[in-house]
Amino acid sequence: MLGDVVSWIVEGAIVDVDGARPGYVRFQRGAVTEVGTLGTDSTRGRVRRIRGIVVPAPVNGHTHLGDAVSDREPPHAPIEEIVRAPDGYKFRLLADTPPGPKRRAMRAALGRMRAEGVAATLDFREEGLEGTRLLRAASRGTGVRTVIFGRPLRRPVDRTEVERLLDVADGVGISSALEEPERVRSLLASACRRRGKYYGLHASEVRRESPDSYLKPRPDLLVHLTFATRDDLEAVVEAGSTVAVCPRSNALFGRRPDLATFAKVGVPTMLGTDNAMFHAPSMLREVEFAYVTARLARRPVPPGFLVRAAYIEPWRFLGRPRWARVQAGGPGRPLVFRLPPEQPEYQLATRATEHLIVRPGPRDP
Ligand SMILES: [Zn+2]
Repeated sequence: MLGDVVSWIVEGAIVDVDGARPGYVRFQRGAVTEVGTLGTDSTRGRVRRIRGIVVPAPVNGHTHLGDAVSDREPPHAPIEEIVRAPDGYKFRLLADTPPGPKRRAMRAALGRMRAEGVAATLDFREEGLEGTRLLRAASRGTGVRTVIFGRPLRRPVDRTEVERLLDVADGVGISSALEEPERVRSLLASACRRRGKYYGLHASEVRRESPDSYLKPRPDLLVHLTFATRDDLEAVVEAGSTVAVCPRSNALFGRRPDLATFAKVGVPTMLGTDNAMFHAPSMLREVEFAYVTARLARRPVPPGFLVRAAYIEPWRFLGRPRWARVQAGGPGRPLVFRLPPEQPEYQLATRATEHLIVRPGPRDP
């Protein structure tokens, strides 16, 4: 297979932070060594070639990997009831599962993401410091950078608990402004600021909330905004927050983020697969579902917007913009899809499956 070939070239299209364009990418021992316009490579035809699309590795913008312990169809109940702490279905399940099986379930979910080329995930991990530690342990050696938004449990906020959590977590992710008063949110957000960590929360998921509530204090990350109006989205852009949307998870409860408006307003958007008890953590499925359901609702969203949300925007959010660029000697590990290079963003949004991923070689992942 190609993995054994030391040097090869993908001819077709490149889709990265600089946009979609025809081009070629040369890989040597798994690393990108040349990028250019078609027909200008230095190999004079001596190297094996395939047709395809090269794109930065995707990032899952929102997960709850702890939920991967579930192996049943969750009850048909409102989402608030399923995920309500501490007695909803989800939290009872988490409480009833010992750490070993929980760690293995999270690790398996990360392995599955890895098989689809996902390089990082942003996870809201419940269960306090213990839950954060368990995910940190589960992620070791998986090759998926696991950005953990932990959740401190004590109320009123216990500073020592928060500081200890932030020693392990990359930030704090809370349920929502409906459940946490401003005083709690402010304490948590300022602890995150002081430590250079992320602060995030769910917002406007089951009904519209006023941006005044979830934007104060200013979050780095908002999740859902299913019920946000155009004005709300403009306020979010103004505040400089990034939004992770989860179309499959919302659809299960009869809801849909209006991504056409997100695109028009220019909301910095990522896509996430949300609770692992509802869906496989597949970014390829998430992107396709977002595209198809936008068409279904007669509110089409440009495929390029969805591709940016999955493959490019998260690297900006994570402060690693070079990972969003396909370049010689770059730090990222771009994916190659054996797909037609015509309209490459459309191909990636609707026709990409993990079987079409070509592994770039021995250094690969
Ligand atoms: Zn969530």
